[in-house]
Amino acid sequence: MARLQDKVVVITGGASGIGKASVALFAKEGAKVVFGDVKAADGRAFEAEMTGTGHAVRFVETDVSKEADVKRLIDTAVEAFGRLDVLYNNAGGATGKDGKVTDMPLDEFWRTISVDLFGTFLGCRFAIPHMEKTGGGSIINTTSIRALTGTAGADAYSSAKGGIIALTQALAMQWHTSGIRVNAIGPGMVLTERVKSILDPETNPIAKKSLMGPMEPDDIAYLALYLASDESKRITGAIYPAESGASAH
Ligand code: NAD
Repeated sequence: MARLQDKVVVITGGASGIGKASVALFAKEGAKVVFGDVKAADGRAFEAEMTGTGHAVRFVETDVSKEADVKRLIDTAVEAFGRLDVLYNNAGGATGKDGKVTDMPLDEFWRTISVDLFGTFLGCRFAIPHMEKTGGGSIINTTSIRALTGTAGADAYSSAKGGIIALTQALAMQWHTSGIRVNAIGPGMVLTERVKSILDPETNPIAKKSLMGPMEPDDIAYLALYLASDESKRITGAIYPAESGASAH
């Protein structure tokens, strides 16, 4: 039996990186997946690739910082497949404009908060009522090792990802009585196409400190798969660091 057989899943930021690996893995494990992303052409091409291989996958152009977009994404899943079992809030990421609190551009602070933190908040806002109706579900949020260990020089990103940890635990406390579990994954460096475009894994100090070699998107997707599945049925309010030992030395 597939690990997510017939579960209905929404994944944000599914057109590339960790989100894309998760769409593919979850679909392979029997889920019906609706994914959102701002990258419409990439999203549609990936949707065609997945449906072409027989998977139940739909793409909805979505900016997670916009209330109406997130509502449409969640509603599409429920209208298409009748319910919502899993929400994976994955969209986000730091940019080169982030920096020190004293001199980084203020609009970059609000961009990061809007996408990473508010986008996660909106996903939970629209998903929870559907999950309550069917007796439960699993929400997976995305924080970062930066928020767990403290990292200098990405102060907007650290703020947003720290907020996601607090939100995850607050929601877990409030919705366990409805059968809704809320957990978060805090990846260390993952070699997505975006990350590879901004650093050289051969010379980057964190990549070099990765004990088992730098992580790939699949390494995070498999942890998300566990949290999405009933295998983690009593796990909630947990924050999972996921890295290749780079903080261990
Ligand atoms: P990525 O850039 O490869 O993928 C992110 C996806 O989110 C992209 O397809 C992008 O278009 C989409 N996106 C961005 N803004 C959006 C918005 N407003 N609405 C909808 N979609 C949007 O990034 P990734 O490395 O796969 O990161 C995925 C998540 O993992 C992010 O939350 C990131 O902060 C987190 N993370 C990544 C790393 C890493 O090293 N890659 C480390 C820690 C945490």
